[in-house]
Amino acid sequence: MTLSFDPDHLPFPAGHLIGDRLIPAGDGIGMHRPSDGRAYADCPVASADLVDEAVSTARAALKASNWGTVRPRERTRALHRWADLIEAEAETLAKVEALSSTRPVGQLVAGDIAVTAEQIRFFAELADKEGGALAPTDDDSLGMTITEPYGVVGAITPWNFPLSMAGWKLAPALAAGNAVVLKPSEMTPFSTVLMAQLAIRAGLPAGLINVVLGDGPTTGAAITGHPEIAKISFTGSTAAGSAIMANIARSGVKPMTLELGGKSPQIVFADADLPQAAAAIATSILSNAGQACVAGSRLLVEEDAAEPLVAMILTHMRAVRPGPTWDEATRYSPIVSERQRQRIHAIVTAAIEAGADCLTGGAAMESAGYFYAPTLLAGVDQRSPAVVEEIFGPVLTVQTFVEEEEAVALADHPIYGLCAGLYSRDLSRALRITRRLQTGTVWVNRYGRSRDHILPTGGYKRSGIGKDLGREAYHANRRSKSVLIGL
Ligand code: NAD
Repeated sequence: MTLSFDPDHLPFPAGHLIGDRLIPAGDGIGMHRPSDGRAYADCPVASADLVDEAVSTARAALKASNWGTVRPRERTRALHRWADLIEAEAETLAKVEALSSTRPVGQLVAGDIAVTAEQIRFFAELADKEGGALAPTDDDSLGMTITEPYGVVGAITPWNFPLSMAGWKLAPALAAGNAVVLKPSEMTPFSTVLMAQLAIRAGLPAGLINVVLGDGPTTGAAITGHPEIAKISFTGSTAAGSAIMANIARSGVKPMTLELGGKSPQIVFADADLPQAAAAIATSILSNAGQACVAGSRLLVEEDAAEPLVAMILTHMRAVRPGPTWDEATRYSPIVSERQRQRIHAIVTAAIEAGADCLTGGAAMESAGYFYAPTLLAGVDQRSPAVVEEIFGPVLTVQTFVEEEEAVALADHPIYGLCAGLYSRDLSRALRITRRLQTGTVWVNRYGRSRDHILPTGGYKRSGIGKDLGREAYHANRRSKSVLIGL
């Protein structure tokens, strides 16, 4: 069976999902397919009233199913069934994802979707293994903390990895005993609706996951400001994260997890395995055409190794070919929109005008859709917008250093601190530098996460607050209550 498909004849669930009701999409925000630029659907915009209905449905589902208080193993079992069904329906999910997003269908079944199913299982297994604790107290009393779910959690996700991001939010929240009202990005909402429908088919109580479609200012703000939503989990840009914090501060007080932007350095020492480093760096900036929060977009290389390393990276960059996301053979993603492609090009052009050398790329690709050529900019400095701004495209800058100290100073970004890559055969040096980097994740002699759900992910500085994945994400979806009993 081939995964390639005809994009003009693919059914997808276009509408909000409240309980088990699919509320059909009416007019809304026009959506274009990134692979060929064709308009293909409207994303409706849920009003505050519809968000309110989703929250009431979530509360009623929690009450009717006792999801938050059932024996935790029940939640484990239900989530395992959902993960199994996601794998069984992986082809259908992959096609709906590939239709509207930048993710090539050939990378989804064994990639994003398999990883999402495994992640659901990871959190399913935590449900009956993580609890409260006894506290050391006086002889005449017994102290303990018990933990409880929040109730209804609000989640908001970006467009770059729609299914994976929905999984990051839904799996820990549900395993921890909550219901969720989730708003996917207005650019890529339908695969999330399908994923939520599969949960109902797998036997999770309808109403535990409600998907409301819409934009940030209307639907997103109605979620973050809703008085009955007890916790917010957000992934997206730092600008939207700030707006969400402000709205929460205005409308009430509630905990939030924010996974925001990044501008991650890749630090390469001359003693590294250079072909391996070149492959990892190229993958990190070419995967999803650089539209990843973790994209390793700033190459910092020890002067002696710069020439051979850059030559190897250029070979990888020049080998990519554009192709529609619905063709199974495609490996290189389009940019999500024409607007975003123009923004990328404006930053690249400004860098070149300011004196940067463009070693490859620097232009849109000749093809249907919003493709941008892999771009490598040398001759930039720490103040260049291409080095400072999160470009969210296939653009790598290169700077050189002589001393270890200089590498650490260059790596330090004024705003972001999401991830860093370090390449060296000297592990003492790698660990020494790891401790000095102001980032939430450091990868040594590799780049990017795979199936390591146990490792939390999240940023330092303005790259975020709190963590997704790992035990920390599970605990972020429960709150603790202290109990002291006189004996
Ligand atoms: P975005 O911030 O424009 O939108 C993200 C989501 O937030 C969308 O659903 C959008 O509708 C919603 N939103 C926007 N303004 C809002 C508001 N005021 N209130 C409530 N909701 C609002 O981001 P994007 O363009 O979809 O995604 C790209 C960004 O996401 C990049 O900055 C990237 O680094 C970041 N990202 C971070 C991680 C991480 O783990 N740190 C992962 C993926 C993406």
